[in-house]
Amino acid sequence: MTRYRGRFAPSPTGPLHFGSLVAAAGSYLDARHQQGEWLLRIEDLDPPREIAGATDSIIRTLEQLGMTWDGPISYQSQRSHLYDEALGRLWQQDYLYDCGCSRKEITDTAVVTETGPVYPGTCRNGLPPGRSPRSVRVRVDPVTGSVRDRLQAPLQQQLASEVGDFIVRRADQLFSYQIAVVVDDAEQQISHVVRGADLLDSTPRQIYLQQLLGLPTPEYLHLPVAVDSKLAKLSKQTFARPVTPDDRHSAIINALRFLRQPLPDPVHDASRDELWQWAIDHWDVTAVPACRTLAAPVEYIEPD
Ligand code: GLU
Repeated sequence: MTRYRGRFAPSPTGPLHFGSLVAAAGSYLDARHQQGEWLLRIEDLDPPREIAGATDSIIRTLEQLGMTWDGPISYQSQRSHLYDEALGRLWQQDYLYDCGCSRKEITDTAVVTETGPVYPGTCRNGLPPGRSPRSVRVRVDPVTGSVRDRLQAPLQQQLASEVGDFIVRRADQLFSYQIAVVVDDAEQQISHVVRGADLLDSTPRQIYLQQLLGLPTPEYLHLPVAVDSKLAKLSKQTFARPVTPDDRHSAIINALRFLRQPLPDPVHDASRDELWQWAIDHWDVTAVPACRTLAAPVEYIEPD
C-alpha cells in the first residue's frame, strides 16, 4: 500500500483567509481520513510578494484552528540548493536556455491563451545578437499534458501551443513556483496534492518537469476555489477578510459547508477538536462539487 503523505503549501502573501482555509482543510481532511501524514510548507520563494509577519500569522492561525501538521515546517527560502541542483540537471539535458525577452516584449507579440501569453520562442535557438540573458526557460516538446484529477474533469493541455516554453528562473534570479513545487513535492515524498483549482492549469507544466527530472507524479485533487461576487478568487488583492481566532469555530464549519461535507448535529455543540474528528471520519471527496469556483460565504467577502 502506498503511504499517504499530503501537504499544505501557503505563500506568505497575507494572513490566512477563507480561500486558503479551504485548501488547508481539504488537504488536512483527505490526509487524516486516510491515516496519512500532513506537512506544512511555507512557499516563501518570492520576497517581493511576501508580507512581513504573514508566515507567523498563518502558522498561528492554523494552530488556533486546531490543525496539527507532521514534522518540522519547511521553508522554500531554505531550499534553493535543491532547485539549483534540479536546474543543473535540466541544463545538462539541454532542456534549458537563456531568454533575453522582457515581459512587455512578449505580451506585445504573443498569442494569449487561458494560461497567459504563449512565449513565441524568440530566444529558443540562442540569444539574438546584442541581447543579454534575463530569465531561464525550459523547452517544451510538442506533447499533450494530461491531468487525471480525483475530482475535476480530466484535463488535456497542448503544452507547446497553449503554454509555450516557460520560465524556471526569473529575471530577478528567483526560482519559479513551477520548479520549486515539483522539486519539493518529490523531495518530501508527497503522494497526494490537494489544493485550489486555480492551480489546475499549472499542473501539466509540473507533470512535464517531473517527467524531465525522472520524478514521480503525485495524485491530484483540485478543490473549488472560493470566489467573491465578481467571481474573483479571494486574496489580499480582493481584500478577503482574514480568519481570526474569534470566528475560528464558524470558519471551520463554513469550510466544511463550502466543501459540502456532512456536519454533526447539532453542529454548534461540537468543540473545535470534535468538529475536526467528525470531519476526518466523515470526509467524502465525492460530495465536493466538481467545479473550479464556488461562491464564498458572504461573511468572508468585503462588501462593495
Ligand atoms: N503556494 C501556493 C499558493 O499559496 C500553493 C501551491 C501548491 O499547493 O501547489 O497558492
